[in-house]
Amino acid sequence: MAYDNRIIEQVQSLNDIVDVISSYIPLKRTGRSLKACCPFHQEKTPSFIVNPERQVFHCFGCGEGGDVLSFVMKYEQLTFPEALKLLADRAHFELPATSFQRSEKSNSGLLYQIYEVAQAFYHSNFMKLSIAEKARAYWKSRGFGEKEAIQFGIGFAQDDWRKLFEHLSQKGFHEEAMVRSGLIAKPSSQKTPYDLFRNRLMFPIRNAQGRVIAFGGRVLADEMPKYLNSPETDIFKKRREFYGLSVAKGTFIGQGSIRQIIIVEGYLDCLQLQVHGFLNTVATLGTALTEDHVRILKRYADEAILVYDGDRAGEQAAVRSLDVFLEEDMSAKAVGLPDALDPDDFLRSKGAEAFHEQLLEAQDIFDFKLNVLLGRFNKLDSSGLLKITGEFLDTLAKIKNQVLLDRYLKKLAGSLGVEERSLKIELEKLKAKKVTRSSNALEVSTRSAASSPILPYEKLILTCLLQNPSYLEKLLEALPTYEFENEQAREFFEILRRQISERAELFSSTHLMNELKDDRLKVFATELLVSELPEGEALEQVFQDCLAKIEQVLLDKELKEIKHRIQQAERDKDLPLVNQLLQDYQGLLEGSRRRKENLKK
Ligand SMILES: [Zn+2]
Repeated sequence: MAYDNRIIEQVQSLNDIVDVISSYIPLKRTGRSLKACCPFHQEKTPSFIVNPERQVFHCFGCGEGGDVLSFVMKYEQLTFPEALKLLADRAHFELPATSFQRSEKSNSGLLYQIYEVAQAFYHSNFMKLSIAEKARAYWKSRGFGEKEAIQFGIGFAQDDWRKLFEHLSQKGFHEEAMVRSGLIAKPSSQKTPYDLFRNRLMFPIRNAQGRVIAFGGRVLADEMPKYLNSPETDIFKKRREFYGLSVAKGTFIGQGSIRQIIIVEGYLDCLQLQVHGFLNTVATLGTALTEDHVRILKRYADEAILVYDGDRAGEQAAVRSLDVFLEEDMSAKAVGLPDALDPDDFLRSKGAEAFHEQLLEAQDIFDFKLNVLLGRFNKLDSSGLLKITGEFLDTLAKIKNQVLLDRYLKKLAGSLGVEERSLKIELEKLKAKKVTRSSNALEVSTRSAASSPILPYEKLILTCLLQNPSYLEKLLEALPTYEFENEQAREFFEILRRQISERAELFSSTHLMNELKDDRLKVFATELLVSELPEGEALEQVFQDCLAKIEQVLLDKELKEIKHRIQQAERDKDLPLVNQLLQDYQGLLEGSRRRKENLKK
């Protein structure tokens, strides 16, 4: 690991997991643990457990789990060093400079560096080069000035195949890392590498924390495509990033009781809105709105307003996103701008005041879709009616909130002039069909995962060991050569055994978690760590029962093996061997009986 474990443990110990997680989501105490509805998947009954004693969390619904650092990484979408820094700052703890420099050697650290250097390079081109005049002219024609160019870090990629490549080489980056960043292309090992972006106006795309993770480039000549995004990398996933979020994120708070976020489609739309004072604006990056997107927005805002170009394509995009909002249970409105204008054109021709009025007219996204469909199909003829109800039943089937569902059903029945009851019947039919389909899928997935399931007693015994490391000795004494059946259990036990014997009374589950490099094993460990076991004598009993169970299993295996050999010897008519084996068989049974009696005493 690239960090000093002592520092990591210090930062962890200064940040109680319950304090940190409850600053993001409400936790409810149940017994020795705390519970919540999982922030990483959609659920109604809480299966997300936080264990304060062991400082871990685990979700039994989606299988996420980890310590305070993994929680912050996952929730805030940070890299490890960023999460460490956030938690250190939170506890007013100053991290030694070295632990950060070292971290930048990591995979994503290097990518961040390349993007930072490339952004500075493109931006300086834009500001200084005389050949950037056409880029500056275009920027000006969109209504922006130098101040905005600096504020948003706008750049210019020259009409040349090697400029960025040469610049990055001078800065000491290796070709392999440049290619991994996606900014340099190299189609095959023989070809020479070249710049992805040429003759384009460059928009840096930042993550929520403000670091450059990608670029969007707009053509300056009549080339295609008009907009080009840098490819997905370890630090850039289109389906979960927005343009403008780092600016917008701080602005949702304090806007009255409902925090709103405006969603548009293009960088220029987003910039124009932010420049006109609508700082709470983000743009998707050339993809439809995804569930990941909505889940991220829900952290910052209560309600989304989709502002789409007033043309058919824009309208269609808004209609499609309705389902995503319903599924993620986030309130949303939509507004289509008049005269097929996009937000950029609208603002420049009509101004901020007029735009604000448009926002006030935004419709609940359900009504928006209903109006769009009523405009497209005739509800008075049966094929039109079937088309509209068909579209909506699929949508309604996704609503989990009963109150909302009733409201929408009433509204739909009213505007279509049909019985609410009939809609309900159709909806139930559809849901029933879906359940059969998904339970079939479940069967398949459990069957394939069942190749080597963890046995309940193996799980229990590992949990006992974690909660009471002194049991290791007893386990090794009773079952010195036992091999766990389940592969993860086997791997985990090896690490656990080493840690317990090496660290003796210094053993801690926090330290153990930090030693686990494999995310799979980390999650495996958190599930054990949040499991509640009885204490004292009752725990001892659980442990002994597990040992007994394993002994029984091993004995059964051995007996079966001997039986098999007896049959073989009988077929071979080897009587002395048969006798010998029968004695062994009796001996094993007798030994086990005696051990059981001893235990009872
Ligand atoms: Zn979950």
